[in-house]
Amino acid sequence: MAEIVIKDLRKDFGDFNAVKASSFTIEDGEFFMLLGPSGCGKTTTLRMIAGLELPTSGEIYIDGEEVGRKPASERDIAFVFQMFALYPHMNVRKNMSYPLISQGMPKARVKEKVAEVARILGIEDILNRPVGGLSGGDRQRVALGRAIVRDPKAFMMDEPLGALDAEFREHMAEELRALHDRMGATTVYVTHDQLEAMQMGDKIVVMNHGVIEQFGTPQDIYDKPATMFVAEFIGSPPMNFLRFHGSLEAGATEVTLSGHRFGMPQLREPKDGDLVFGVRPEHVELTDSSDYRGEVLATEYLGTTQIVTLDTPDGQIKARTPSGQPARVGERVGLGFNPATITLFDRQSGRALR
Ligand code: ATP
Repeated sequence: MAEIVIKDLRKDFGDFNAVKASSFTIEDGEFFMLLGPSGCGKTTTLRMIAGLELPTSGEIYIDGEEVGRKPASERDIAFVFQMFALYPHMNVRKNMSYPLISQGMPKARVKEKVAEVARILGIEDILNRPVGGLSGGDRQRVALGRAIVRDPKAFMMDEPLGALDAEFREHMAEELRALHDRMGATTVYVTHDQLEAMQMGDKIVVMNHGVIEQFGTPQDIYDKPATMFVAEFIGSPPMNFLRFHGSLEAGATEVTLSGHRFGMPQLREPKDGDLVFGVRPEHVELTDSSDYRGEVLATEYLGTTQIVTLDTPDGQIKARTPSGQPARVGERVGLGFNPATITLFDRQSGRALR
C-alpha cells in the first residue's frame, strides 16, 4: 500500500526540458493514469517514480519518505512494461518464481505464492507451459503475475496493453481493472489512449509538452476541461470550438454568436477579447426552434447515434444526434446548445474561463 506525492518534479535531458515542475498526489490504492500524446513526458515521469530515471529537481514521496535519489531496488515498486521481458526458455512457473527466488524466499513459500497469484490471474493451467508458445494475452498475464508475486507497494505500468490487438486489449483492460479492485494496490499507468484512461482510471493527469494540463477524475476532465488542449484530446469527436470576440461582465450567463444569444454557466470574472465557445457534440441539438443555422456538410452513421458535421457562421462543428433524426447534406438546420455544458476559453492562453 502506498501514497505517492510528487512535488515540483522536473527532468532535463541536456538542454531539453522533458518534464516541467509537476506536482500531484496519488492516493493509496488509486488506479492513476498518466495520459498524453507521444513525447509529452509521461514515461519519463513514471520512470522517475519507479527510480529508473533520476529527477533533475523536485521530490517524490512514497508513504511520506522522500525517495527521489534512492535506487529502484529500494523503492519496492514493480514495473510492468509493454514489451514484457519474460524468459522465453523458462516455463510460466519459473518465470513467476524468479523474483521470489532471487529475494531468497524459501522454495515451499515460493510455490504457495505462485499458486495463489496464478489463481487470481486464472493461469493455473498453463503454469508448466514454456512462455515462448503462449498467446499475447497469456504472456501479459504472466508478466503481471511476475510483478504481483512480490507484493510490491505499488505498480508502474507503461502502456502494458499496447502490443495487443484492439478487441483483446479491451478485454485485458477490464481484467486489469477488476484485478486492481481485488488487490487494491496503488497503480500508476501510462497511456496515450484517452478511452483507456477514461475507462480504467480513478484519476487522470493529462500532460502535454512536459506540462500538466489538468489533474482530476475522468468525469471532471471530460465535463470541465481546464484547457482547449484537454477539451480536444479527450472525447471522440472532440469538443467543438466556435471562435468569437466578446466583452463579458462578471456574472454573465449569456454570450452572443453572430447576433444570436446562447446561455452558459455563470462567469465569475469579467472577460474581454478573443474567446472560444466550447460545446461537446452530444450537447449540440438540431432544432427547428433556433434561428442560428448551420449547413449539413456530412453525416456519419454510428449505430444508435450519428455524427453530423455542420458549417455555422462561427466555424465548423459536429453534433452527435440520435440515428434517424433527419439531416440531409446541403440542408440548413437550426442549432441549440445545452447551456449547462458550455465551456468558454480564452483563445490566447487556451485556458477555460469559470
Ligand atoms: P511516448 O509515449 O512516445 O513514450 P512519452 O510521453 O512517454 O511519449 P517520454 O518518453 O517521457 O514521452 O519522453 C519525453 C521527451 O523526452 C521526448 O521528447 C523524448 O524524446 C525525450 N527523452 C526521453 N528520454 C530521453 C533520453 N534518455 N535522452 C534524451 N531525450 C529523452
